[in-house]
Amino acid sequence: MTYVKSLLTAARTIEIEEASMRDTIEDGWVRLRLATASICGTDMHYFRHFANAGFYLDHPVSLGHEACAYVEAPNGSDFAPGQLVAINPVIECGVCECCATGDINMCATKRFPGSATTRPHIDGFFRQYFDFPARCLRRVAEGVKPEHLTFAEPLACAMHSVNRAGIGSGDRVLVTGCGPMGLLAVVGAVAKGAEVEVTDLKAEAIAAAQTVGAKSGYVIGAAAPPTASYDVVIEASGSPHAYNYALDAVRKQGRIGILSLIQPSPVPINLHLNALKEVTVVGSILFTKEFDEAVALIEAGTVDFDAITAGRFPVSEAQAACELMASGEAVGKVLIVPA
Ligand SMILES: [Zn+2]
Ligand SMILES: [Zn+2]
Repeated sequence: MTYVKSLLTAARTIEIEEASMRDTIEDGWVRLRLATASICGTDMHYFRHFANAGFYLDHPVSLGHEACAYVEAPNGSDFAPGQLVAINPVIECGVCECCATGDINMCATKRFPGSATTRPHIDGFFRQYFDFPARCLRRVAEGVKPEHLTFAEPLACAMHSVNRAGIGSGDRVLVTGCGPMGLLAVVGAVAKGAEVEVTDLKAEAIAAAQTVGAKSGYVIGAAAPPTASYDVVIEASGSPHAYNYALDAVRKQGRIGILSLIQPSPVPINLHLNALKEVTVVGSILFTKEFDEAVALIEAGTVDFDAITAGRFPVSEAQAACELMASGEAVGKVLIVPA
Protein backbone atom coordinates (compact mmCIF):
# COMPACT_ATOMS: atom_id res chain seq x y z
CA MET A 1 0.00 0.00 0.00
CA THR A 2 1.40 3.41 -0.95
CA TYR A 3 0.63 6.74 0.70
CA VAL A 4 1.74 10.39 0.75
CA LYS A 5 4.45 11.19 3.28
CA SER A 6 6.09 14.53 4.10
CA LEU A 7 9.74 14.37 5.03
CA LEU A 8 11.92 17.11 6.52
CA THR A 9 15.21 16.57 4.65
CA ALA A 10 17.06 19.75 5.68
CA ALA A 11 16.28 23.07 7.40
CA ARG A 12 13.26 24.70 5.69
CA THR A 13 12.99 21.80 3.21
CA ILE A 14 10.09 19.37 3.26
CA GLU A 15 9.96 16.82 0.46
CA ILE A 16 6.84 14.87 -0.42
CA GLU A 17 7.28 11.23 -1.29
CA GLU A 18 5.12 8.30 -2.23
CA ALA A 19 5.98 5.81 0.52
CA SER A 20 4.83 2.24 1.03
CA MET A 21 3.61 0.67 4.25
CA ARG A 22 5.28 -2.55 5.35
CA ASP A 23 3.04 -5.59 4.90
CA THR A 24 3.39 -6.58 8.55
CA ILE A 25 2.43 -4.55 11.62
CA GLU A 26 4.55 -4.90 14.77
CA ASP A 27 2.93 -6.90 17.60
CA GLY A 28 0.97 -4.59 19.92
CA TRP A 29 0.85 -1.84 17.29
CA VAL A 30 -2.14 -0.65 15.25
CA ARG A 31 -2.21 0.64 11.66
CA LEU A 32 -3.76 4.14 11.53
CA ARG A 33 -5.02 6.52 8.86
CA LEU A 34 -4.39 10.19 9.70
CA ALA A 35 -7.55 12.14 10.61
CA THR A 36 -6.01 15.51 11.60
CA ALA A 37 -2.57 16.58 12.84
CA SER A 38 -1.31 19.94 14.06
CA ILE A 39 2.00 21.80 14.00
CA CYS A 40 3.81 22.33 17.30
CA GLY A 41 6.48 24.87 18.26
CA THR A 42 8.85 21.90 18.47
CA ASP A 43 8.14 21.05 14.82
CA MET A 44 8.92 24.68 13.98
CA HIS A 45 12.36 24.45 15.59
CA TYR A 46 13.16 21.34 13.55
CA PHE A 47 11.78 23.03 10.42
CA ARG A 48 13.92 26.13 10.96
CA HIS A 49 17.14 24.57 12.27
CA PHE A 50 16.93 20.76 11.69
CA ALA A 51 17.39 20.76 15.48
CA ASN A 52 15.50 21.61 18.66
CA ALA A 53 16.85 22.59 22.08
CA GLY A 54 20.34 21.37 21.13
CA PHE A 55 19.20 18.02 19.66
CA TYR A 56 20.16 17.66 15.98
CA LEU A 57 18.39 15.30 13.58
CA ASP A 58 20.64 12.54 12.22
CA HIS A 59 18.55 11.90 9.13
CA PRO A 60 15.35 13.08 7.37
CA VAL A 61 12.18 12.54 9.37
CA SER A 62 8.44 13.17 9.11
CA LEU A 63 7.55 15.85 11.64
CA GLY A 64 4.42 15.86 13.80
CA HIS A 65 3.49 14.42 17.19
CA GLU A 66 0.04 16.00 17.59
CA ALA A 67 -2.63 14.01 15.78
CA CYS A 68 -5.70 11.84 15.90
CA ALA A 69 -6.40 9.03 13.47
CA TYR A 70 -8.82 6.38 12.26
CA VAL A 71 -8.03 2.73 12.92
CA GLU A 72 -7.12 1.09 9.62
CA ALA A 73 -6.05 -2.35 10.93
CA PRO A 74 -6.59 -3.18 14.65
CA ASN A 75 -3.94 -5.94 14.46
CA GLY A 76 -5.46 -7.96 17.31
CA SER A 77 -6.25 -4.96 19.60
CA ASP A 78 -9.82 -4.19 20.77
CA PHE A 79 -10.12 -1.16 18.51
CA ALA A 80 -12.61 -1.33 15.66
CA PRO A 81 -11.72 -0.56 12.04
CA GLY A 82 -12.72 3.02 11.20
CA GLN A 83 -12.81 4.09 14.86
CA LEU A 84 -11.43 7.60 15.65
CA VAL A 85 -8.72 7.56 18.34
CA ALA A 86 -6.67 10.17 20.20
CA ILE A 87 -2.91 9.50 20.11
CA ASN A 88 -0.66 9.96 23.11
CA PRO A 89 2.69 10.27 21.30
CA VAL A 90 4.82 9.30 24.32
CA ILE A 91 5.96 5.68 23.93
CA GLU A 92 7.14 5.14 27.48
CA CYS A 93 9.30 2.14 28.42
CA GLY A 94 6.68 1.01 30.93
CA VAL A 95 9.14 -0.64 33.33
CA CYS A 96 11.39 2.06 34.84
CA GLU A 97 10.87 3.82 38.21
CA CYS A 98 9.34 6.90 36.52
CA CYS A 99 6.89 4.83 34.48
CA ALA A 100 5.92 2.89 37.65
CA THR A 101 4.80 6.16 39.30
CA GLY A 102 3.03 7.40 36.16
CA ASP A 103 5.68 10.02 35.38
CA ILE A 104 6.01 8.90 31.77
CA ASN A 105 7.38 12.34 30.80
CA MET A 106 10.46 11.58 32.94
CA CYS A 107 11.10 8.14 31.40
CA ALA A 108 14.71 8.20 30.20
CA THR A 109 14.15 5.68 27.40
CA LYS A 110 10.76 6.85 26.15
CA ARG A 111 10.41 7.20 22.39
CA PHE A 112 8.75 10.17 20.70
CA PRO A 113 7.83 10.56 17.01
CA GLY A 114 9.36 13.27 14.80
CA SER A 115 12.05 14.10 17.35
CA ALA A 116 15.86 14.03 17.52
CA THR A 117 15.63 12.99 21.18
CA THR A 118 14.71 9.48 19.99
CA ARG A 119 17.51 7.59 18.21
CA PRO A 120 17.02 6.19 15.67
CA HIS A 121 14.27 8.74 15.00
CA ILE A 122 10.68 7.59 14.52
CA ASP A 123 8.70 9.28 11.74
CA GLY A 124 5.98 11.62 13.01
CA PHE A 125 2.38 12.02 11.91
CA PHE A 126 2.56 14.42 8.95
CA ARG A 127 1.80 11.51 6.58
CA GLN A 128 -1.35 9.71 5.51
CA TYR A 129 -0.72 6.35 7.23
CA PHE A 130 1.40 5.18 10.17
CA ASP A 131 1.58 2.44 12.81
CA PHE A 132 1.55 3.23 16.53
CA PRO A 133 1.35 1.20 19.79
CA ALA A 134 -2.21 0.28 20.78
CA ARG A 135 -1.50 1.28 24.40
CA CYS A 136 -0.93 4.90 23.28
CA LEU A 137 -4.38 5.18 21.69
CA ARG A 138 -7.54 6.45 23.42
CA ARG A 139 -11.16 5.83 22.52
CA VAL A 140 -13.22 9.02 22.32
CA ALA A 141 -16.92 9.86 22.64
CA GLU A 142 -19.10 9.75 19.51
CA GLY A 143 -19.21 12.98 17.55
CA VAL A 144 -15.84 14.45 18.61
CA LYS A 145 -14.39 16.37 15.67
CA PRO A 146 -10.89 15.31 14.55
CA GLU A 147 -9.90 18.97 14.13
CA HIS A 148 -10.58 19.41 17.86
CA LEU A 149 -9.13 16.07 18.98
CA THR A 150 -5.73 16.90 17.49
CA PHE A 151 -5.44 19.47 20.30
CA ALA A 152 -5.26 16.66 22.89
CA GLU A 153 -1.45 16.50 23.06
CA PRO A 154 -0.66 20.23 23.18
CA LEU A 155 -3.58 20.81 25.55
CA ALA A 156 -2.21 18.05 27.80
CA CYS A 157 1.19 19.85 27.83
CA ALA A 158 -0.50 23.13 28.78
CA MET A 159 -2.63 21.44 31.45
CA HIS A 160 0.45 19.78 32.94
CA SER A 161 1.94 23.23 33.47
CA VAL A 162 -1.37 24.48 34.90
CA ASN A 163 -1.45 21.52 37.31
CA ARG A 164 2.24 21.81 38.24
CA ALA A 165 1.70 25.49 39.07
CA GLY A 166 -1.24 24.48 41.26
CA ILE A 167 -3.80 26.68 39.48
CA GLY A 168 -7.22 26.42 41.09
CA SER A 169 -10.59 28.10 41.24
CA GLY A 170 -10.42 31.86 41.82
CA ASP A 171 -6.68 32.18 41.17
CA ARG A 172 -5.55 35.29 39.31
CA VAL A 173 -3.41 34.03 36.45
CA LEU A 174 -1.30 35.81 33.84
CA VAL A 175 -0.28 33.89 30.71
CA THR A 176 2.67 35.54 28.92
CA GLY A 177 2.56 34.83 25.18
CA CYS A 178 -0.52 33.89 23.14
CA GLY A 179 1.01 31.46 20.68
CA PRO A 180 -0.73 28.09 20.50
CA MET A 181 0.71 26.96 23.87
CA GLY A 182 -0.28 30.19 25.61
CA LEU A 183 -3.80 29.95 24.17
CA LEU A 184 -4.07 26.37 25.45
CA ALA A 185 -2.74 27.43 28.87
CA VAL A 186 -5.63 29.91 28.94
CA VAL A 187 -8.03 27.04 28.09
CA GLY A 188 -6.53 24.89 30.88
CA ALA A 189 -6.51 27.63 33.52
CA VAL A 190 -10.06 28.75 32.69
CA ALA A 191 -11.19 25.10 32.97
CA LYS A 192 -9.79 25.12 36.54
CA GLY A 193 -11.88 28.20 37.38
CA ALA A 194 -9.06 30.75 37.30
CA GLU A 195 -9.41 34.38 36.22
CA VAL A 196 -6.95 34.73 33.36
CA GLU A 197 -5.20 37.68 31.74
CA VAL A 198 -2.65 37.53 28.93
CA THR A 199 0.17 39.41 27.25
CA ASP A 200 1.34 39.27 23.64
CA LEU A 201 2.99 41.44 21.00
CA LYS A 202 -0.09 41.18 18.77
CA ALA A 203 -3.61 42.45 19.50
CA GLU A 204 -5.07 39.62 17.32
CA ALA A 205 -3.44 37.00 19.52
CA ILE A 206 -4.95 38.62 22.61
CA ALA A 207 -8.35 38.66 20.90
CA ALA A 208 -7.96 34.92 20.23
CA ALA A 209 -7.17 34.35 23.92
CA GLN A 210 -10.37 36.19 24.81
CA THR A 211 -12.42 33.85 22.61
CA VAL A 212 -11.24 30.95 24.80
CA GLY A 213 -11.87 32.64 28.13
CA ALA A 214 -9.17 35.22 28.90
CA LYS A 215 -10.69 38.23 30.66
CA SER A 216 -8.34 40.83 29.24
CA GLY A 217 -4.87 41.29 27.83
CA TYR A 218 -1.94 43.64 27.44
CA VAL A 219 -0.21 44.35 24.12
CA ILE A 220 3.50 44.45 24.99
CA GLY A 221 4.89 47.90 24.30
CA ALA A 222 1.51 49.60 24.62
CA ALA A 223 0.45 48.41 28.07
CA ALA A 224 1.88 46.37 30.92
CA PRO A 225 0.22 44.04 33.40
CA PRO A 226 0.16 45.28 37.01
CA THR A 227 3.16 44.29 39.10
CA ALA A 228 3.04 41.93 42.08
CA SER A 229 -0.58 40.99 41.52
CA TYR A 230 -0.93 37.47 40.04
CA ASP A 231 -1.12 34.25 42.03
CA VAL A 232 0.41 32.43 39.08
CA VAL A 233 2.22 33.48 35.90
CA ILE A 234 2.49 30.88 33.14
CA GLU A 235 5.37 31.74 30.78
CA ALA A 236 4.40 30.59 27.29
CA SER A 237 6.19 33.06 25.02
CA GLY A 238 9.55 31.29 24.84
CA SER A 239 11.27 34.67 25.13
CA PRO A 240 13.95 34.48 27.86
CA HIS A 241 13.19 38.09 28.85
CA ALA A 242 9.63 37.09 29.69
CA TYR A 243 10.97 35.41 32.80
CA ASN A 244 11.91 38.81 34.25
CA TYR A 245 8.46 40.19 33.39
CA ALA A 246 6.94 37.17 35.13
CA LEU A 247 9.02 37.93 38.24
CA ASP A 248 7.59 41.47 38.22
CA ALA A 249 3.99 40.41 37.65
CA VAL A 250 3.78 37.57 40.18
CA ARG A 251 2.61 38.39 43.72
CA LYS A 252 4.68 37.71 46.83
CA GLN A 253 4.80 33.95 47.45
CA GLY A 254 3.22 33.36 44.04
CA ARG A 255 4.16 30.74 41.46
CA ILE A 256 5.71 30.87 38.00
CA GLY A 257 5.13 27.97 35.62
CA ILE A 258 7.59 27.61 32.74
CA LEU A 259 5.60 26.08 29.90
CA SER A 260 7.55 27.29 26.88
CA LEU A 261 10.71 25.42 26.04
CA ILE A 262 13.07 28.36 26.40
CA GLN A 263 15.94 27.61 24.04
CA PRO A 264 19.30 27.07 25.70
CA SER A 265 20.94 30.50 25.81
CA PRO A 266 22.33 32.48 28.76
CA VAL A 267 20.08 35.32 29.97
CA PRO A 268 20.48 37.80 32.84
CA ILE A 269 17.79 37.02 35.41
CA ASN A 270 16.64 39.29 38.24
CA LEU A 271 17.25 36.48 40.66
CA HIS A 272 16.85 38.69 43.75
CA LEU A 273 13.10 38.91 43.04
CA ASN A 274 12.89 35.11 43.25
CA ALA A 275 14.24 35.39 46.79
CA LEU A 276 12.62 38.62 47.97
CA LYS A 277 9.13 37.59 46.83
CA GLU A 278 9.61 33.92 47.79
CA VAL A 279 8.53 32.88 44.31
CA THR A 280 8.04 29.18 43.56
CA VAL A 281 9.14 28.29 40.02
CA VAL A 282 7.95 25.07 38.41
CA GLY A 283 9.07 23.75 35.07
CA SER A 284 7.00 21.37 33.00
CA ILE A 285 7.64 19.11 30.07
CA LEU A 286 5.07 17.03 28.21
CA PHE A 287 2.36 15.62 30.52
CA THR A 288 1.38 12.63 32.62
CA LYS A 289 -2.28 12.09 33.59
CA GLU A 290 -3.23 15.27 31.71
CA PHE A 291 -3.60 13.49 28.38
CA ASP A 292 -6.85 11.91 29.59
CA GLU A 293 -7.86 15.22 31.20
CA ALA A 294 -7.35 16.98 27.86
CA VAL A 295 -9.33 14.37 25.91
CA ALA A 296 -12.20 14.72 28.44
CA LEU A 297 -12.19 18.52 28.06
CA ILE A 298 -12.30 18.18 24.25
CA GLU A 299 -15.12 15.62 24.51
CA ALA A 300 -17.10 18.05 26.69
CA GLY A 301 -17.31 20.35 23.65
CA THR A 302 -17.11 23.55 25.72
CA VAL A 303 -13.96 25.00 24.10
CA ASP A 304 -14.08 26.87 20.79
CA PHE A 305 -10.99 25.28 19.20
CA ASP A 306 -12.04 26.59 15.79
CA ALA A 307 -11.40 30.13 17.09
CA ILE A 308 -7.76 29.22 17.76
CA THR A 309 -7.17 27.42 14.46
CA ALA A 310 -5.26 29.41 11.85
CA GLY A 311 -5.57 27.19 8.79
CA ARG A 312 -5.39 23.69 7.37
CA PHE A 313 -3.20 22.12 4.70
CA PRO A 314 -3.00 18.65 3.13
CA VAL A 315 0.08 16.51 3.89
CA SER A 316 1.32 17.30 0.37
CA GLU A 317 1.49 21.00 1.35
CA ALA A 318 3.27 20.51 4.68
CA GLN A 319 6.00 22.91 3.54
CA ALA A 320 3.45 25.73 3.03
CA ALA A 321 1.87 24.91 6.40
CA CYS A 322 5.24 25.18 8.15
CA GLU A 323 6.09 28.38 6.25
CA LEU A 324 2.84 29.94 7.49
CA MET A 325 3.73 29.03 11.09
CA ALA A 326 7.31 30.25 10.61
CA SER A 327 6.05 33.61 9.27
CA GLY A 328 4.61 34.45 12.67
CA GLU A 329 1.45 35.64 10.88
CA ALA A 330 -0.74 32.74 12.05
CA VAL A 331 -2.78 33.14 15.23
CA GLY A 332 -3.54 29.71 16.68
CA LYS A 333 -2.79 26.24 15.39
CA VAL A 334 -2.10 25.20 11.81
CA LEU A 335 -3.63 21.81 11.00
CA ILE A 336 -2.47 19.09 8.60
CA VAL A 337 -5.09 16.85 7.00
CA PRO A 338 -4.57 13.75 4.82
CA ALA A 339 -5.54 15.33 1.49
ZN1 LIG B 1 3.50 19.54 20.66
ZN1 LIG C 1 10.15 4.31 31.61
